[in-house]
Amino acid sequence: MKADHLWVRWVHAVYIKSTTWKDYEPGIEQYRLKEGYHWLKPVGDKVQWYPWMLNRMIIPRHVFMCWLVAQNRLLTQDRLLKMNIIQNNCCYLCGETMECHEHLFFQCRYSRMCLELTGCWCLVDFPEKNCIEWWIHWRQQSIWYKQAVAMILASLLAHIWFARNKCRLEGCLSHPQVVVNSIKREVQLRINQYEVPCRNGRLRNWVNYISSH
Ligand SMILES: [Zn+2]
Repeated sequence: MKADHLWVRWVHAVYIKSTTWKDYEPGIEQYRLKEGYHWLKPVGDKVQWYPWMLNRMIIPRHVFMCWLVAQNRLLTQDRLLKMNIIQNNCCYLCGETMECHEHLFFQCRYSRMCLELTGCWCLVDFPEKNCIEWWIHWRQQSIWYKQAVAMILASLLAHIWFARNKCRLEGCLSHPQVVVNSIKREVQLRINQYEVPCRNGRLRNWVNYISSH
């Protein structure tokens, strides 16, 4: 039997432990598939953002991009600089400071205007720093409302990234209001595809409000 065989490693970890095969005295052994699975699977941090990333209301083409944002995996200037692909790291949207995920989506002057204009329209205070932490602490709202707001936030992140790429490739930057108008159209179409829970009058008023202007 090969010493590095997965089964041998599992038996050592669960039964043999610090003793040897020769000295091992079996008790009443009972193999549980669940234990084997937990032992074999890699142990990682709990992925906090997945509930809202898997939200059914989020526009499908935004899901993968948001997944990359949540893991800081988009090819922002700071990452390209680390890879020695570029020599200069400066935010395309404001030209004032280094471009990293947090700056690009939450701190940049341009992005803040998009967040504030969208927030005024849909009556939501969007985060100033990390949307994931903001989301985790925002537990008391109804599920339907949380899904809708996550969808709006996902649309915001996607459109900020599109505006940034347009600026990088074409050298022109759309006015934040133009970006927000695109978000509004997209969100209104999406939100009207889902039925609002009939007993929640407050939610209905909110949907009517954001759908009407
Ligand atoms: Zn900036």
